[in-house]
Amino acid sequence: MSGNTGFGVVSPRGTGGAGGVMSGRMLSARTVAVAAGRPAEPGAPLNTPLVPASAFAHGGGREYARDDGSPTWQALEQAVGALEGGHATAFASGMAAIAAVLGLLPAGATVAVPTFSYAGLRELAGHASGTGRLRVIMVDPGHTAAWRQAAERADLLWLESPANPTLDLTDLRAVIAGARETGRLVAVDNTFATPLGQQPLALGAGIVVHSATKAIGGHSDLLLGLTVTADAGLAGQLTAERMRSGATPGVLEAWLALRGLRTLPVRLAEATRTAGILAGMLAAHPAVTRVRYPGHPSHPQAALARAQMRGGGTVLAFELADGHAADRVCHAVRLVRHATSLGGVETTMERRQRLAGDAHVPAGLIRLSVGLEDPGDLWDDLEQALGHAQRA
Ligand code: PLP
Repeated sequence: MSGNTGFGVVSPRGTGGAGGVMSGRMLSARTVAVAAGRPAEPGAPLNTPLVPASAFAHGGGREYARDDGSPTWQALEQAVGALEGGHATAFASGMAAIAAVLGLLPAGATVAVPTFSYAGLRELAGHASGTGRLRVIMVDPGHTAAWRQAAERADLLWLESPANPTLDLTDLRAVIAGARETGRLVAVDNTFATPLGQQPLALGAGIVVHSATKAIGGHSDLLLGLTVTADAGLAGQLTAERMRSGATPGVLEAWLALRGLRTLPVRLAEATRTAGILAGMLAAHPAVTRVRYPGHPSHPQAALARAQMRGGGTVLAFELADGHAADRVCHAVRLVRHATSLGGVETTMERRQRLAGDAHVPAGLIRLSVGLEDPGDLWDDLEQALGHAQRA
C-alpha cells in the first residue's frame, strides 16, 4: 500500500524526540505514534485494514507476502520506523528479529554479548558458538572500557540497555562511538526503553531490535519483533533474512501491534510514573534488600539513565533475602499477576533465577513489569505479599 501517510524515515528530534515533518515542523514522538502508518487516500479507512493474504494478483508490485511484505506489516513498519528514525522490518517474534541480525554475520565472525541481557539472546549466541558458527565474547554491560576492547575484535556488538532482568545500563553513546572508530556494527535491543524512551540509531547504532510482544503491543496478546536500521542496505539484508527464514509475523499480530503502538506514549508515561512510585516504596520496605530501577536515585547508573533515557521505564527489579522469600512473595500477590513477560497493561512479576538462562542473577531477584492499575492498589497488594517474605 504505497499511499500510507508520509511519516516514513525521518531524523529524530533532539534526544527524546522522534517524528515526522509537517509543514516544515518536526512532530513529537507521541504524535507520530498516532499518525504514522495510516492510509492517506481519500475515502480510505483510517486504519490500514487487516489483509490476510499470502498472494497478490500480478502487476501490482507485490506478489507473495513472504517475499514482498504485507500491507498490514508495512503500516506497522512505517510507524515504528518513523519513531526510531529508520527502516523497520517486522518479524514473527523478538527472537526472530534477533536471529535475523545474528544471521547477517558470516561463519566464524565474533559477536560481543552482555553478560546480563535477555536469556534468549545469550542462548542463541551460545548455540551459534557451540555449533562453531560464531565466536562469542561476554561483556559486563556497564563496563565501557571492556566494550571498547571488545570492539577491537568483535564484528558485532550487541547491546541491551536497560538489561533484562537486572536493569543494568550500557553507556550507549560512549560504546557506539568506540565501535564506530573501529568500524564495528552495533545492534541495540531497545525493548525495555521502547522507541519513545531512547533512540540508539540517533547515537549511531546500526540496528535497533524490539520485542513488540512487550510494550509496543502492550496487551500480552501477541508475539512480534522488529528490526530498525537507517542503512538501506542493511534493511534490505534483514528483509532478505526474513524472506529466507520465513520468520514472518501474522497479520493479526501486526495489526494488533500497531493498535498497541498508538497508545504507547500514554501507557509508557503512566506506567513509568507508577514504576517510580513503586520503586520508592519498595526501596523503603524492610524486606527488600535492593531495588533496581534506572529512574531511582539508588541505581548506580542513575546519572547515565537521566542522560540517555527519557524516564526510567516501566520495568524494575527488587531483591529479597533469598529465593525462598521471593517465591513466597510471588505466590502471595493477588492483583499483580505472577507471570512471565512484561510490557502489558497488567502488572506482572516473577523470580527470574528459576529460569535456566538466568541462573546467574541473584536468587531473590523479582522482576516487576508495571502496568496501568492504580499505584495505590498495586502497593497495597505488594505490601501484603511482602508480608509473606518471612516464613510464617
Ligand atoms: N528482547 C528482550 C529484552 C526480551 O525481554 C525478549 C523477551 O522477553 C525478547 C527480546 C524476545 O522477544 P520475543 O519473546 O518476542 O521473541
